[in-house]
Amino acid sequence: MVSRAPKRPVRPGNGNREVALPPPGLLDSPEQVISYYNRMGLDLNTSVPIEQIIQSNPELELKYADLGINDAYIKKISENSFEIGVNKNHHPNRQRFSLAHEYAHYLLHRGKIHSMPEGEQILHRNGERNPVEYQANNFASELLMPDDLVRRAFRASHGNLSQMAQSLRVSKEALKYHLETLGYRVQ
Ligand SMILES: [Zn+2]
Repeated sequence: MVSRAPKRPVRPGNGNREVALPPPGLLDSPEQVISYYNRMGLDLNTSVPIEQIIQSNPELELKYADLGINDAYIKKISENSFEIGVNKNHHPNRQRFSLAHEYAHYLLHRGKIHSMPEGEQILHRNGERNPVEYQANNFASELLMPDDLVRRAFRASHGNLSQMAQSLRVSKEALKYHLETLGYRVQ
């Protein structure tokens, strides 16, 4: 069971202000990504469709392949073109976290991608020490588990971790870790 965290204060001056959005390759926070694709009409009501987010981006190509021990990779093809690959043999929820992690590299570490190894094993609980990888994992967690979807899943499941993970389409381990960082008590 998951216990509810104390309510967070609402930031002042953050009402229904319309903000111009940058093009998809320049989004730089999970909130911006969600807000952008919400406006694009993607269904973000129960889970975040990271596959569609990647597939609809003209700068990205998505491939499913047998990557052996690796989870995923991102490869620079040309100046504004990248390939993201994910291990086709993994569970869909694991693939989704891996994809969100590579997508984070694309948005946050674009200039470093050419020097990254082609293929990586991703820690799905953020025990990562390398700051670039830590940042990508954090971004992936926040993108796939935004606060309002987590709250909705919590209410609908009465705090049942398995049901919450199922509706958010993330692994129980990734959800548990994320909830703990938000201050929920997970037993
Ligand atoms: Zn990485």
